[in-house]
This record gives sequence, structure tokens and C-alpha cells, in this order.
Amino acid sequence: MKACLDFILSIEGEGASYPTVLGNGECLCHWCHGAPGAVWLFAKAYQVLKEEKYLEGSKRAADAVWERGLLRKGNSLCHGAAGNGYSFLVLYRLTKESKYLSRARYFADWIDGDRGKSVDMKPDCPFSLFEGFSGSAVFLSDLLDPERSQLPLFDVPDLDAAASCEHLLGEVPVTYEVTTYTAADEQSFKRSTRECL
Ligand SMILES: [Zn+2]
Repeated sequence: MKACLDFILSIEGEGASYPTVLGNGECLCHWCHGAPGAVWLFAKAYQVLKEEKYLEGSKRAADAVWERGLLRKGNSLCHGAAGNGYSFLVLYRLTKESKYLSRARYFADWIDGDRGKSVDMKPDCPFSLFEGFSGSAVFLSDLLDPERSQLPLFDVPDLDAAASCEHLLGEVPVTYEVTTYTAADEQSFKRSTRECL
């Protein structure tokens, strides 16, 4: 398993991109194909193996999502801005670094704004969880309580293994914290608005 992880880390390309197929130069930025999936893989590897190189690989992949993760393909979990936004939430839960929460909120604002609502490609399966609108709704609602956010059906690589799904039965906070961005965030987001397939 560790050899496999290290191999995947070794094929990280320029800008923390990952090829969809070995020997194929195409690099998508989808949870299902590319850096967003690597965020999860290496976050989990860090949780289990406690080796810093995996955490660093996960962070580099999240930076790639920040640069290229707003997708014309839509807002789904599998290959859309919502799934890519979860890259930041999982690293926020793992590291507690506020920049990841800010980035997740920025993606949420984009999804909920004019740009996100006018993506030019519709989901393949608009009523499915991973390709459809419900995935976007799950992502947006998770930002109400990011400390316990969780990509559906996936274990969160939280160092506090006691975290559970109890919150699903509890009261959900109704306030949406106002997002503030620094000038550096704004500049970075302008680069991030380079939408990709
Ligand atoms: Zn996909």
C-alpha cells in the first residue's frame, strides 16, 4: 500500500496535477480524476502513516484545486465545484488552517452566485447524489457547520477519530458566517476563476 502511495506521489506533475491515465498528458481537476482526489488520498495516508510528505502532497493538491477547481462541467461532487470545495473542507478539518475554510466558502459563494448558476454544462445525472444538484446542496449545507463537514459516504481523515455523525441528528446552526477575504485571497481567486472542464 505504501509503495502504491509513493508511486502516485511520484507522478505528481507541474502545478500538482495528476494525469487521468498513465502516459496521457491530460490533467483534469475533478474529484474523480485529478488533484481533488489526491487531496483525499494523501490526507488519509497522513492520518494513518503520520508521514509529513503525505500531508504536504495533500496540501499541494488542494492548491491545484484552488487554481483550477471551478469547473464549467458543473457543480457536482464527482466532477464539479462542490466536490472540489470538499478538498478544502477535509484539509480544514485535518489541519484547522483557516485558509482552507475561506477557500471552501469562496467556492460555495461561486456555486451560489451568477457564475455557478450559469455553468454551461449540465450534470450527466442531474438527480444523482454525486453528479447532480443534491451534491451541491450537501456541500453548501456543510458550510453551516464546517467542523463536522463530511463528503457523503466518505470517512473524514480527522485526527480525532471520535468524530461521528451524531450532528446529523442534532440541531443545525442557522447562521452563515460572513466570509472576509484578504487582498491576497482576491488575487488568488482571480487566477482561480480560470474555469476548466
Ligand atoms: Zn466524475
